[in-house]
Amino acid sequence: MFNDWLKMLTKLSRNNYSTKDFVCPECGQKSIEYIYVGDPSTRVGYLPAWCRSCNNGIQISRVEIPQGAKMIKFGESERIKNTIPNFKQVVPYE
Ligand SMILES: [Zn+2]
Repeated sequence: MFNDWLKMLTKLSRNNYSTKDFVCPECGQKSIEYIYVGDPSTRVGYLPAWCRSCNNGIQISRVEIPQGAKMIKFGESERIKNTIPNFKQVVPYE
């Protein structure tokens, strides 16, 4: 399942950073959300992505943040807390 999430996220740029047609690998619903969190000057950060229906997701660390993608700056803890739910992380090789 982890690889299905990765595969899905590699399609973000092709979809103009919209996840509205993404299907959740866990529950099959079209309720995927993502937000990059990182440094706006270096464009490096991490990428959490999750499903609003089943609350599963993954987090990828050390990613380059593309222009045009949704992002929150490091340190905006209130915004991070209000945007990213406490989802259950899907791990590799489960
Ligand atoms: Zn789901």
